[in-house]
Amino acid sequence: MAAAAKNKYIRIKYLSQTIVGMAMALIVISCAGSANVVGQEPSAADTLALSTKDTISIVAVGDIMLGSAYRSKADLPPDDATGSFKHVKSFLKGDIVFGNLEGCFLDSGKSTKCKDTIGNSCFAFRMPERYAAIYKDAGFDLLSVANNHVGDFGFAGRKRTAALLDSLKINYAGLNSQPYTIFEKDSIKYGFCAFSPNDFTLQITEIDSAKSLVSFLKKHVDIVIVSFHGGGEGATFEHVPKTKEIFYKEDRGDVYAFSHAVIDAGADIVLGHGPHVTRAVEVYKNKFIAYSLGNFCTYGQFNLNGPNGFAPLLNIKLNNRGDFLYADVVSTRQTKLSRLTIDQNHTALKKIVSLTDSDFAGHRLTFSDKKIRVKD
Ligand SMILES: [Zn+2]
Repeated sequence: MAAAAKNKYIRIKYLSQTIVGMAMALIVISCAGSANVVGQEPSAADTLALSTKDTISIVAVGDIMLGSAYRSKADLPPDDATGSFKHVKSFLKGDIVFGNLEGCFLDSGKSTKCKDTIGNSCFAFRMPERYAAIYKDAGFDLLSVANNHVGDFGFAGRKRTAALLDSLKINYAGLNSQPYTIFEKDSIKYGFCAFSPNDFTLQITEIDSAKSLVSFLKKHVDIVIVSFHGGGEGATFEHVPKTKEIFYKEDRGDVYAFSHAVIDAGADIVLGHGPHVTRAVEVYKNKFIAYSLGNFCTYGQFNLNGPNGFAPLLNIKLNNRGDFLYADVVSTRQTKLSRLTIDQNHTALKKIVSLTDSDFAGHRLTFSDKKIRVKD
């Protein structure tokens, strides 16, 4: 059973625009590998298989946009992005390797978004379609597509991006057309869903809907992973305010209330990004929350000044009930010239420590040996 189930890929698509009314939604199951029935309670064999793996490692990073050919191909990196992850590749290894896909894959087309220019810039990101394979080669097997750039080139961009990720067997979720995904690896069933304040994505502001989806997933999988792209952006938004955040007149969600609510509903880990800076971490009901994983690998027009140039790469260990064990922190940095490298000064880790101390006073976490642990 364990061998047969290994690396089985299961995807369910709800053909509904919202999560509300899930019971009425039409479920389409596509399955590569041996047949499986989604919706059954785990069998005794499944439970036995689960017990054979007692530690799960989830590698998590924040925003990734490898270079946009819009408006000009001259804006692409000189190595055509092939070396984007060369300094961190050895760390991108785990049962799950997660990141936020901050853009779309599409080889042509204009963006209506560029009416809203800031100075001479246009923050519309269209990665060449060949760049999708670079994510795959780097080890990413789970991506959030709920964010403010996946829709930069409308339906065409979202559709092509989804098709490419499907073809590469990279799991992803967060669009209304793909709100969640269920997949299995090494006999562990994972459910993943992703939220943002942006159009055509699951809404971070609709917390009751988010809870419904998470509790639905929890009935069908062993480990539920939730991602959000939320909160204000930049150096003045490093703190978790524990209230709704407004940025560019947009409600970017209450990331604290959201994270706690989805854990109350059954989430095992919450991976946040969106502010382009590192934020605090928290362990709530034995479940790990990263409030912002920052700019991980973002080429081109991204501001990399100050805290925007540093980001953590977390390797988070959970037990097979999804409870937090510990996390290894690799600090990375980006500059326009050197691009993504390891930061020997551990700036991102220091940020996590200071922000966690200030935003979650009285927390029971310790930070030593580049590890996050819970006090005994
Ligand atoms: Zn964003």
